[in-house]
Amino acid sequence: MTLYTVIMLALLAAVGITLWIVFRRWQNDIEAHQNERSTWQRLMQDQLLQERDDRDRLLNALSDAFLLVDENQRIRFANEAASELCNSQSLANRTLRETFIDPRLTGALIKGLESEDPIRTRITLSEHASPRRKAENRGISAWIIDTARLPAHGKFPPLTRIIIRDITPEYLAEQIRKDFVANASHELRTPMAIINGYLENLLDDDMLEDRETSKRFLTVMRKHAGRMSRIIEDMLVISRLESGEENPLNIEPFKLLDCIQDTLERLESLIRAQQAEIQIKLSDDGMVIHGDRFYWTQALFNLIENALKQNPRPGLKIQIGGDLEGGRQRIWVSDNGIGIPRSDLPFIFRRFYRVDKNHTQSEIKGTGLGLSIVKRAIEAHDGIITATSTPGTETKFLISVPITPSQRPALEL
Ligand code: ADP
Repeated sequence: MTLYTVIMLALLAAVGITLWIVFRRWQNDIEAHQNERSTWQRLMQDQLLQERDDRDRLLNALSDAFLLVDENQRIRFANEAASELCNSQSLANRTLRETFIDPRLTGALIKGLESEDPIRTRITLSEHASPRRKAENRGISAWIIDTARLPAHGKFPPLTRIIIRDITPEYLAEQIRKDFVANASHELRTPMAIINGYLENLLDDDMLEDRETSKRFLTVMRKHAGRMSRIIEDMLVISRLESGEENPLNIEPFKLLDCIQDTLERLESLIRAQQAEIQIKLSDDGMVIHGDRFYWTQALFNLIENALKQNPRPGLKIQIGGDLEGGRQRIWVSDNGIGIPRSDLPFIFRRFYRVDKNHTQSEIKGTGLGLSIVKRAIEAHDGIITATSTPGTETKFLISVPITPSQRPALEL
């Protein structure tokens, strides 16, 4: 082997080794690059999952139902509130018509889908048309449907976001307020019209000279003015109790017996006029109530006055009682009068509800607000009131209020 051959072989070997080293390095670089890429891909994937999880958690935290719907009316995303509302685990890929049964509700949703502009629709549904289906037990329900188109994004088609908000409690509160205003105006308008009529007679027909007639007219007017002021007083009491103030009550300990006696004193002339027999039956004469004495007196007054008003005949017996049962204080007013028909019992605590609807103005015995005041006053004390009636035998209003440790009789009175 010549020297030349040796050198050539050595050179070839050197080139070969260098190429191998370069190749290995290149291979290592590719491997490192691939590792880096898959780590980065994993990180991106994790991040995407995290973002999707954050989005889902955020949308699931909404108490309103939230849906994303595509152009074909198919649901692409539904939060938990939406699934709960429709009582279905998976709403994805279902169409709106398959998901919501009521045509008015679906109509409102589709109108939103077709509109370029955001739309807010308010609808009320009967019990069987509610999206809550069998879980609905509120009679009528009210909803706000809020839709807005989300613009197309890259290769993704446009979607519409739908929010379905249950506004039934607000709707019912508004209804009650409307009824209250309508009833109150009606109740006030009648005595007002009577007073106006008598005033016109007195002034226009020159009756002021006739002292006898004037006096008669003025007496009637005073009676109706008194009635108006009682309605207004009762409305003010209700509005104070419903003012939404955190603590509308002035809580203090007082003896139930004192409160009963105050009330009976105020009603003394009526009791005497009707020769009613009053029996007080307390398990403990020192029974102490921790509550707002003003409202307790008002509640007892309304209950006892009702028993007297509804039974203007001799032989009426009224019992006012109080005892302890199951850690609660029970206070009741019962009478043996004409009673309340079973069909009226569920409604007597409603505002302006009267059992006898066929009365004339002069026969109306109360404002129709008495029992609703009693109910609200007792509820403000975390209590409940129930009424039972066997006409002619016993009509009983039973109040039950909790005794918390702080409410136990501890003070010397
Ligand atoms: P009112 O101011 O007209 O008395 P309430 O709200 O106090 O209104 O009572 C509602 C209705 O319940 C009354 O109109 C009356 O018909 C009936 N009622 C309440 N208490 C009695 C009772 N002790 N006996 C018979 N009926 C009663």
